[in-house]
Amino acid sequence: MAPPATRFLVLSDIHANGTALDAVLEAAAARWDRAVCLGDLVGYGPDPNEVIERIRTLGATAIRGNHDKAGCGLDEAEDFNDIARQAVMWTRQQLHPENRDYLRKLPAGPLEVDGVVLVHGSLHDEDEYVFAPAQALPGLLDAPTPVCFFGHTHFQSGFSFRDGKLEVLHLHPASTVQFTALRIEPGTRYLLNPGSVGQPRDGDPRAAFAIADLVHHVVEFWRVPYDVRAVQQRMRRAGLPEPLVLRLSHGR
Ligand code: ZN
Repeated sequence: MAPPATRFLVLSDIHANGTALDAVLEAAAARWDRAVCLGDLVGYGPDPNEVIERIRTLGATAIRGNHDKAGCGLDEAEDFNDIARQAVMWTRQQLHPENRDYLRKLPAGPLEVDGVVLVHGSLHDEDEYVFAPAQALPGLLDAPTPVCFFGHTHFQSGFSFRDGKLEVLHLHPASTVQFTALRIEPGTRYLLNPGSVGQPRDGDPRAAFAIADLVHHVVEFWRVPYDVRAVQQRMRRAGLPEPLVLRLSHGR
């Protein structure tokens, strides 16, 4: 059996953006020994097969997101808006059968891996958006490990809980730096979102991810620039909806 991971590469919401994923893997090179993915490998972006194949090659431990369920046909995308549903239909047409099968077999969160818990939305509902402290509290209280990673909102963000006090953490690195580091304190519980690799919505168009070193009690929250225009060109060629193309420029 492989030894437990000491440094996790934490990816979420890649959304079929192969160029952003490449930039992340280049920046993170040799800094991690186990990759995990919090869901939404596909949807919105132009590279669903490439992203799935890359995640499989990395040997990443992945859970499913709502776009993975819709893209492989496990979910009919009835609660998606028109634009998102158009992207779902395009993704379904593109997926190679073996990649569709890979998505169909992805487990739902929560999934515990080497001392951390992975969820897509929240601990109790894989499709819930956790933006506010009240939404974070049940996960902070009930997660089986002190550190739980979540995605789905596309905001690099987090919460901590200690001695009855919930704190909102500011983890987003300034535009002039590549990462901010969070010290993990013993006795404190954390709910942490690495941000979205392929479609950030927190106002920073750079690709987001995290590196968690639980031996040294530190989680780094990274942002790296990538060639947004190259992705936008592929999206336009594929006929994906223009609002999805434009939002990548603004990270909103
Ligand atoms: Zn997503």
